Amino acid sequence: MLEIDDLQVELDADAGLVRAIAGMRLTLTRGETFALVGESGCGKSMAALALMRLLPENGRIAAGTVRLDGEDLLALPESRMRDVRGGRVAMIFQEPATSLNPVMRVGDQIVEAIEAHTGLRGKAARARAIDWLARVGIPEPERRIDDYPFRLSGGQKQRVMIAIALAAEPDFLVADEPTTALDVTIQAQILDLIRDLQRERQLGVLLITHDLAVVSGMAHHVALMYAGQIIEVAPAAEFFAHPRHPYARLLLQALPDAARRGEPLAAIAGTVPPLWLDFAGCRFWPRCDKAMGHCASTLPRLTEEGPKHQVRCLLYSQPGEALPREPATAKRLPPRPAEQGAPLLDVRDLRVRFALKAPLFHRGTRHFDAVDGVSYTLHAGRTLALVGESGCGKTTSGKAIVQLLRRQAQVSGQALFDGQDLFRLQGQALVQARRHVQIIFQDPFASLNPRMRVADVLEEGLIALRPELDAGQRRERLLTLVDQVGLRRDALQRWPHEFSGGQRQRIAIARALAVEPRLIVCDEPTSALDVSVQAQILNLLRELQREQGLAYLFITHNIGVVEYIADDVVVMRAGRIVEQGNCSTVLRQPREGFTQALLAAVPRLLPPSP
Ligand code: SF4
Repeated sequence: MLEIDDLQVELDADAGLVRAIAGMRLTLTRGETFALVGESGCGKSMAALALMRLLPENGRIAAGTVRLDGEDLLALPESRMRDVRGGRVAMIFQEPATSLNPVMRVGDQIVEAIEAHTGLRGKAARARAIDWLARVGIPEPERRIDDYPFRLSGGQKQRVMIAIALAAEPDFLVADEPTTALDVTIQAQILDLIRDLQRERQLGVLLITHDLAVVSGMAHHVALMYAGQIIEVAPAAEFFAHPRHPYARLLLQALPDAARRGEPLAAIAGTVPPLWLDFAGCRFWPRCDKAMGHCASTLPRLTEEGPKHQVRCLLYSQPGEALPREPATAKRLPPRPAEQGAPLLDVRDLRVRFALKAPLFHRGTRHFDAVDGVSYTLHAGRTLALVGESGCGKTTSGKAIVQLLRRQAQVSGQALFDGQDLFRLQGQALVQARRHVQIIFQDPFASLNPRMRVADVLEEGLIALRPELDAGQRRERLLTLVDQVGLRRDALQRWPHEFSGGQRQRIAIARALAVEPRLIVCDEPTSALDVSVQAQILNLLRELQREQGLAYLFITHNIGVVEYIADDVVVMRAGRIVEQGNCSTVLRQPREGFTQALLAAVPRLLPPSP
């Protein structure tokens, strides 16, 4: 159905010519899901934009063909291509909130697609739109068709996007990270929906994602991309059972889960090379744990390594002697400490109430209880995970403890830190408490001030919370911090934009550590990061915890991360605790229906065969 042959995409950038895709070849048959996987910047989304001919202004297709049922899409005049886009080929994007037109009713957006690509008009098109809303599982479709997007939840918006995409009755669907912005339960519903519609309509689906667990449950075939090239293609079951490329193996070992608890995750040293380089050899060579002497100077080609299984690696086509390389694994650590003595943090009946804007002509104030009577304890040296869907109150609870909501919300209850109630502290006592309780945020791009050098970012907290230190002592502390988080010392003089996402998260961790805290609230610290970078950060957090006895309040929606890192877990829903206890007990034998549903919705990856 779809044949991409020798596709080459180039972008003009300040640094020079970027070869975003260097010779892609793939074939997709009707009724099949083909997953294109890889970490950020590997070229997978650029491939989707190229086949839709929606490249950014600085981009162009330098060579290759993209044939849909034999017709070369790259050779079509733009007027014909407009009929293909949204007609024979539909696309759903990652972020439903920004993909829908906010000032147009959802029904009108579906009707627009129906009228543009089918013969239906007026009432018949509206009836078909209602039918589509029902099929994608929107309740009360006759009423919801006249809603504006802001009235719908994230999952419902993504369902509307799918309805718009499918309303034109396409043969082929490009789904670019369709569930990345959604909770696991909504993700499971959306993936089921795509699977059902695919079976019903024999749709071909190109699924683009970085989530290997989603791929294992959805795809028939997998292509793994690295630095603009496909480096392994195989039937999905074969790929997950017998990954061949060293990068594929390392990626699968870098995924956190219960089986790897207590072990360091496989860390892939270094970063993806910039694509303006001229490559003389394998693009993965600087990071590869199996590299051989000739890998730096010989270009590997895709070779057959089994039925429909191709790999781009010289280990198979031109084996040689392995270079002596240190395996990039983190330190082995002593077992976690048991709970001893009084808890470091004892949260009792925490409530966080926000005032809502009253509607026009409405007297009095309305309130919303984001956290509604939550109690838990956390001991030194241990990790407590707060889990639940978006909006359940887990982040609000963490922010309340770090005193970030004093001005915006009414916080009540107690947060006893070493016996002192954080919510009652004032003056110097509050300053001291702030020093002991720090936070790391989700987005390492938004959480660092772009106008401050790394040294200033780190020193700011020291000046405010450790006034007893002189300039020389502060300088010493900064050098220790960059060593601790694995950055080079010259990082101190650089700006945040010069660092990758993982490096920025290391800077954020160093900033939290600067004032020698005893408790760190980690608010989704790895959810914006790629799998290999996530592994580095989780290894680092574990090491720091064992060395310094830090306690972590770990807020996340990623159950794999919880299984890997947490000692205890609190499951939240609508501001309240549904279930709490020891991590392995709650996750293996959940008692509450909500926890069971949450865990059942998590996509699972079977471990590869040895
Ligand atoms: Fe590693 Fe060499 Fe294979 Fe590249 S070609 S992945 S460097 S073994």
